Amino acid sequence: MRIGHGFDAHRFCEGDHVVIGGVRIPHTHAMLAHSDGDVLIHAICDALLGALGLGDIGRHFPDTDPAYAGIDSARLLQRVMASVRDGGWRLGNLDATVIAQAPRLGPHIEAMRRRLAELLEAAPEQVNIKATTTERMGYTGRGEGISAHAVVLLQEAADGAA
Ligand code: MG
Repeated sequence: MRIGHGFDAHRFCEGDHVVIGGVRIPHTHAMLAHSDGDVLIHAICDALLGALGLGDIGRHFPDTDPAYAGIDSARLLQRVMASVRDGGWRLGNLDATVIAQAPRLGPHIEAMRRRLAELLEAAPEQVNIKATTTERMGYTGRGEGISAHAVVLLQEAADGAA
């Protein structure tokens, strides 16, 4: 087995929706980012790359590269999953926490779980997404942005265990 951890944060900018966990959520702001600013998917990519010992998302998809401008982060996760497969691994489970004062994420958690399971080539039962506020403390609490933590466990693809 291999374990990996990822963290990401993005600042709000002008806009009318955010994309978190591959799900579009209407909001009073958007995420300022080179890509679509999906903090949760970025944290998951970093957790997977960490488990693989392959560095981080910035190394694989540099934010100076115009190829990744405005890119759907689901595409990045699919690329990372190709590395997971190529290495002979598959997802054991993912546990992640999104930290946001707003928008309210509760109603979108199940959709994120289903979408992420699809992207991670796993069953929804292998994916757990949590959301919390910081009770108005710190940069997420002041509504300056959103952050996310992710932990993944990878299992050898051949071992057959679920
Ligand atoms: Mg990011």
